[in-house]
Amino acid sequence: MKFGFDIDDTLIDLRRYAFHLYNKKLKMAVDEDVFDQIPTVEIHGAFGMTSEEGSQMWKDSMQEIYFTDCPSYQDAKEVLNALADAGHEIYYVTSRPKEYCQQTREWVKAQGFPVADERFYCGMQDHEKIDIIKSLELDVYVDDKPAVLNTLANTTTKIIVKNQSYNQEVDYIRLTNWHEFHALLK
Ligand SMILES: [Mg+2]
Repeated sequence: MKFGFDIDDTLIDLRRYAFHLYNKKLKMAVDEDVFDQIPTVEIHGAFGMTSEEGSQMWKDSMQEIYFTDCPSYQDAKEVLNALADAGHEIYYVTSRPKEYCQQTREWVKAQGFPVADERFYCGMQDHEKIDIIKSLELDVYVDDKPAVLNTLANTTTKIIVKNQSYNQEVDYIRLTNWHEFHALLK
């Protein structure tokens, strides 16, 4: 089978990592409970920033957020490696900016995820992911963003939403912990 995965906040705990980094950079101590309630993909609101300030902060922190030691979710690597070992095709579909694509692919590999170079798609906009997912005829696709998942509603791909505070309203098969993944396929 062909399995597709978003990376940020699907396989790795990127926003939480950025949240801790923002606390450090801003010398603030916003509680982790606040993080768990943020209703948007963007995290700057928890720090009292405007969206302009927030997007500047994100841009200024990107290199550090993306390429240092952001942890992956527990069991995510094991699940993907088991799929690859069983002969399934693993695809990554990330809308990280084009200039970060090659470095992202190498970083994901270095974390221990199974990456075949030709199955790594990067640099598209969120709404363009559907074109890749359709043309690859993915059997299963996992993502966290409602804006992406909702474009896929009428495809034959089985959609799984990685549970997050900002996607509670969407009604797809929901993955909370990666060890549940195999059970969700049944
Ligand atoms: Mg994501």
